[in-house]
Amino acid sequence: MQKGLVSEVIGKTSLIKIKSLSDLTGCEIFGKAEFLNPGGSVKDRAALGIITEAEESGELKPGFTIVEGTAGNTGIGLATLAPQKGYRCIIVMPNNQSQEKYDVLKALGVELITAPPCPFANENHFYHTAKRIAAERPNCFWANQFENTANFRAHYQTTGPEIWQQMDGKLDAFISAVGTGGTISGISKFLKEKNNSIHVRLVDPFGSGLFSFMKTGQLSSTGSSITEGIGIMRITANFKEAKIDDAVQVSDDDMLSMLYHLAEHDGLLVGTSAALNVYAAYQYALENKNSGKKIVTILCDSAIRYQSKVFNEKFLAEKGIVRRKL
Ligand code: PMP
Repeated sequence: MQKGLVSEVIGKTSLIKIKSLSDLTGCEIFGKAEFLNPGGSVKDRAALGIITEAEESGELKPGFTIVEGTAGNTGIGLATLAPQKGYRCIIVMPNNQSQEKYDVLKALGVELITAPPCPFANENHFYHTAKRIAAERPNCFWANQFENTANFRAHYQTTGPEIWQQMDGKLDAFISAVGTGGTISGISKFLKEKNNSIHVRLVDPFGSGLFSFMKTGQLSSTGSSITEGIGIMRITANFKEAKIDDAVQVSDDDMLSMLYHLAEHDGLLVGTSAALNVYAAYQYALENKNSGKKIVTILCDSAIRYQSKVFNEKFLAEKGIVRRKL
């Protein structure tokens, strides 16, 4: 059990064995419980890494305002750390994310700026807006989670080693979706340095370009997804560090079926990206049925963060998402 300030209790999360899926497949499937971080997601690690490196380099000084463009979780991570050091936060988000994330950010006292989602090439994309605000206003630091490689180093230095230790150095596969790429890059680089034969698989939602990039070298996408915080149409500096063997695409139907399966059979309430991750881990286990392989994935955040969407039958029906038994 940990004790300390908010910044001191980030990480060292539990690794949960997902029993129902392990029993169904004859493999061992584990999820790293990142929803246990103080801000409720895997992005607390990136937020802490970005703040720490910026303080050390002198880019972030006492009294400064931290500015970031985010799907929400990185903003929440930054905002949970800001009071400890006396920083303020300006958070820029697309306006189609779950209401829960906006509510949490407002409670944390950030200045919240939202705008309709748009392609990256549009200057109103949240990434460009955050960059612009940080440049225009005095005493601002732009966290820049996509290109600031402090993000991937946080996972290389903490999440990767924790997984290696918790598995006693015995794992066969690691599976992860990608938002900025910090998680998959930091963990895959660390694990491959320990044992290059660990299989690393990227799982992409529809509407993201990385699946096609891994298969053809071209970023292109079809369809869309209700998952949040993952999927991207460009290659970031953080993603460039990743060591990936293959890629799969998982539909929202399969993602949501897994989200409900985990709740009912394992008592696990996981968010949409985590459910996508676990579905891909389950698929990998089915491909290697009864092999006893040990598979690790990330439970990025909690279903509670999306309850107005994932537990809302009307919303799901409008989106045409069909849930079924695994
Ligand atoms: N899941 C959720 C819920 C997220 O918010 C994020 C971060 N945007 C990710 C997964 C992806 O993590 P990363 O940015 O490290 O690729």
